[in-house]
Amino acid sequence: MNISQQNNQSTGNSEPGKLRSGNPLIIAGPCSAETPEQLMQTASALALDHRVDYFRAGIWKPRTTPDSFQGVGAPGLQWLQEVRKQTGLKVTTEVGSPKHVEEALKADIDMLWIGARTVSNPFVIQEIADALRGTDIPVLVKNPLSPDIDLWEGAINRMLRTGIKEVGAIHRGFFWWGKSFMRNQPFWHIPLELKRRMPGLLMINDPSHIAGKRDLIAQLSHRAMEHDFSGLMIEVHPTPEKAWSDAAQQLTPRDFLLLMDELFGTEPESSETALLDELRAEVDSMDEMLVWALSVRMELASKIAEVKKEAGLNSLQTGRWQEVLDKVKTLGAQSGMDPDFVEKVYNYIHIQSLSLQNGVLKTGGSKTNDVQTKKEHNFVL
Ligand code: PEP
Ligand code: MN
Repeated sequence: MNISQQNNQSTGNSEPGKLRSGNPLIIAGPCSAETPEQLMQTASALALDHRVDYFRAGIWKPRTTPDSFQGVGAPGLQWLQEVRKQTGLKVTTEVGSPKHVEEALKADIDMLWIGARTVSNPFVIQEIADALRGTDIPVLVKNPLSPDIDLWEGAINRMLRTGIKEVGAIHRGFFWWGKSFMRNQPFWHIPLELKRRMPGLLMINDPSHIAGKRDLIAQLSHRAMEHDFSGLMIEVHPTPEKAWSDAAQQLTPRDFLLLMDELFGTEPESSETALLDELRAEVDSMDEMLVWALSVRMELASKIAEVKKEAGLNSLQTGRWQEVLDKVKTLGAQSGMDPDFVEKVYNYIHIQSLSLQNGVLKTGGSKTNDVQTKKEHNFVL
């Protein structure tokens, strides 16, 4: 089933589409267009791999600070046209306003994507949708910065209601303000839920913006394929460390091509093994989230210990612990889990949390220690 057939299931339209030319859909290219030479150099290397469907380059860059490189702007459209002419690759760029749409359509760009910051604003999304009405250019909608699935789905629906037949989604991870070893949290269950809500939706993974660093891109790409995503969008630059934006996360063309071989160079699996892989990938993604959530919880426990130290309090406060336990057991029961199981898990978490707190309090003369804690819990390890 190709993308147009897939999308037709949700839109009821039966005209053939042009978005998916391969399986999976591969989009690659630099974060930003910098110079015509940099674009051509990257595109020529990528064109060597027939698995690449679209060449990407941002020309209007939604940067967090006004001091960063803001993109080359409209002149980049001609550079993209030249890339298409010289390499035969289809080209795509990000639009963030009706003006961008107008200019990109005039330049006959093959596909557009809407960035995470833009998707967060329904007013702008509607203006972009209005500018797209009556056209048939494929559009990919990135997830918004916040883990708000309804906002993401709403933006996709605004695009579909313009009559555009080929609308897909890009999962690029979600902003998280706390400690994290990735630039954005993947929260895989969100794109997976969106795929369930919108059967047939083309879901592309953008490991570059999730990872924020090169080393994690292969691992994330594998996970996306195990989750049965429809394709990948990966940032590639001839000299990544010198890139004008997102230098830490771009791959060299060589590393990108090696990754493609690693991902797609083998024979396809049987459908049973593929399903098993898909389910295991969901478990792996959930485990990563659990471990990450635990690390955030432990960090909070240490912060609490600092406050207790200031106030001259002990780490163990039975009333509070009982309150926490009752709450999670109720939550567990509401989610269909055995409350005894939840209690056991939480006993372990609490012991670790107290042990961390005691580490902080020790210097302040706390009377509680780990052995005492375990005894007070009547907890057998
Ligand atoms: C990009 O693709 O270069 C980009 C700006 O992405 P995002 O909207 O995901 O930050
Ligand atoms: Mn980027």
